Amino acid sequence: MLVVDGADQVLKRKTEISLVPGRVRARSLSKLVSLSREIYNATVQHRRDAWRLAQVTVTRFDEFNEIPDLRTLRPDVAAFGNQFRGSTSRADEAFAAFFRRLGKVDPRNSSRECAWCGHTEAANRERSRFSCRRCGHGEHADVNAAQVIAARGRQADALWVASGSPRLTRPTPRNRRRNGAVTEQYGAGSAPHAQVA
Ligand SMILES: [Zn+2]
Repeated sequence: MLVVDGADQVLKRKTEISLVPGRVRARSLSKLVSLSREIYNATVQHRRDAWRLAQVTVTRFDEFNEIPDLRTLRPDVAAFGNQFRGSTSRADEAFAAFFRRLGKVDPRNSSRECAWCGHTEAANRERSRFSCRRCGHGEHADVNAAQVIAARGRQADALWVASGSPRLTRPTPRNRRRNGAVTEQYGAGSAPHAQVA
């Protein structure tokens, strides 16, 4: 109990955290895990649906702004205070990691592959010098590697165009605002929790 009577000259705060939860605390922690999971899944679904149905990008901050509404709608969430930013942040990190992997060009063997003929052999390269054992192409090893990577990028691009140019990267929030009418639909009224039965 906090007693404020002006008698103490020094403020002491003491916090004890039990690592062996009792029955009540264990139940509470398990409820917290379950709600965190629900919010994480709702975040993923919210983003997926917003993008699939309306090409709208939902940001972490949009989702943070949903949390107060969620707390008024769901007393079980409100009981835990402001703990759920972590769940939306983790979903956000998972999305970012996915798009990072998607944008990568495989750099393997790029220093051993010939930019002219594609011949790949360790002996093609000697320190900073690249000299193709098959076609004789000679170049600074870094320049050759850069050309190989650029070619792989163009190839990946061509494949992407051939498959109908699906959107691969997350658009900036600017794109989201441009779709005014659609943003209404996926704005304040469509909290992640609105999709959870
Ligand atoms: Zn070559």
